[in-house]
Amino acid sequence: MTKKYILQHNRPDCIGCAACTAVAPDFWEMNDDGKSDIKNGKALDNGLQELEIDEKDFEINKETAESCPVDVIHIVEKETKKKII
Ligand code: SF4
Repeated sequence: MTKKYILQHNRPDCIGCAACTAVAPDFWEMNDDGKSDIKNGKALDNGLQELEIDEKDFEINKETAESCPVDVIHIVEKETKKKII
C-alpha cells in the first residue's frame, strides 16, 4: 500500500509524558533518555523523527498528536507536505 502521510516527532521538545505510547504502543515507545521514539522512525539531523504511514494508521496517530500536551507530534501529507495536524 502506498504511504500517504508522514508522522513527525519534534523529539527535542518532547517532555516524556508517555501519552503517545499509551495511545498507540504499536507506533510509539519510551527511550532510556526519558523521551519517546517513533518505532522504526527515521532520525533527521535536526533531531526530528519521521515515519511514513498508511491511510489506515492515520486515525490512531492523529489521536497521539491530540494527546501530546506539548504539541510535538504532527502528520503531514506526503505528496503536498501539507500539515494535517
Ligand atoms: S505525548 Fe508528546 S510529550 Fe508526551 S512522550 Fe509523546 S511526544 Fe513526548
